[in-house]
Amino acid sequence: MSLLLKDVSKKYGSFTAVKQLSLHIPKGEVFGFLGANGAGKTTTFRMILGLIEQSSGVITWNDERITYNQSHLVGYLPEERGLYPKLKVKDQLVYLGRLRGMKKTDILKEMEYWLTRFNVPEYAAKKVEELSKGNQQKIQFIASVIHRPELLILDEPFSGLDPVNVELLKSAVIDLKKRGTTIVFSSHRMEHVEELCEHLCIMHHGQPVVYGKLGEIKRSFGKKNVIVHGDGPFEKLANIHGVLKVKQTVEGVSLQIENEQVSQAIFKGLSDFSFIRKFIVEEPSLNDIFIEKVGASYE
Ligand code: ATP
Repeated sequence: MSLLLKDVSKKYGSFTAVKQLSLHIPKGEVFGFLGANGAGKTTTFRMILGLIEQSSGVITWNDERITYNQSHLVGYLPEERGLYPKLKVKDQLVYLGRLRGMKKTDILKEMEYWLTRFNVPEYAAKKVEELSKGNQQKIQFIASVIHRPELLILDEPFSGLDPVNVELLKSAVIDLKKRGTTIVFSSHRMEHVEELCEHLCIMHHGQPVVYGKLGEIKRSFGKKNVIVHGDGPFEKLANIHGVLKVKQTVEGVSLQIENEQVSQAIFKGLSDFSFIRKFIVEEPSLNDIFIEKVGASYE
C-alpha cells in the first residue's frame, strides 16, 4: 500500500515543470514535499489527484491509478482555497460530503467532531464569507478530511494560520497519521516539516535535489552548527579553519562548520576573556539544507 510516482514529467507547452520525478510514499507516512516557489509542487499534487494529466510517467495509489471513481479515497486541500462564500459551513460540508458518497448523518457527525476539535462549533450556521481567512482555512481542511480519505494531500496547510491554529492543525495531522492516513504536504516553513515528517523531498526546477529520511539527510549533509551563548569576544572564531559561516545572535554567536571535528577547535579557540553559558554542536536545520540546495541558484 503506497503512493508511487515513476518517471513523472509535466510539460506546459515547451516548458517542463516536473522532470522525471520518482517517489515512493509508504502508507501511513507524513511526507514533506518542499521546494521554492515554482519548483513544481502544486503541479505534482494535481497530477497525483488526476486533475491534470502528466505528460509521461505513471502514478499509482495501491497499484491503481487515481480516477474519479476513487475520489472518495483521496482528500485535497488546494493552495487556492475553493469554498463557496455565500453558503453556510454546514450546507457546504454536507454538499461536499455527499459528492463523496457519504450519508448526511455521517457527514454531520464528522462535522461536529472537527468543528468542536477546532474550537468553532458555532461556525456550522455561518456563511463562509463571514469567517476570517484563517478560519475559512480550518473549514477547508475539514472539507478535505470529512470523508476519512486514505490519502490526504495538503498544499500549504499552515499558511496564514496563527500559532494556536497551526498547533491545532498539526495535532490533527498527527492523529490522522495514527489512524493510518497517508499525508503528503507542502510547506515553506521548514520547522513544520521537521516536526511532522520522517521522509521528505526538496524539489528544485521540477526535480528532487534532496530525497529521503530526515535524519539521514541531516547526517549526510556533513556540515554542523555550533551554538555559543555567552559574552564575547567571538570575532576570532571566524578565522578557525573549517568555520564556514558566523552569525551574531542575541545570545552569542552561531557558526556553521565543515564537520564535527571543527567544533573542538572552536571550543579551544574561545578566549579566556569570554564568558560561556552554553556550547552546543547541532545537526544542520532543514532550513540550512534547503537554502544550500535551492537558494544558491538565486544568488
Ligand atoms: P509555489 O510554492 O509558488 O506554490 P509550486 O512549486 O507549487 O510553487 P507550480 O505551481 O507547480 O509550483 O508551478 C511549477 C512551474 O510550472 C512554474 O514555473 C509555473 O509558472 C509553471 N506552471 C504552472 N501551471 C502552469 C500552467 N497552467 N501553464 C503554464 N505554466 C504553468
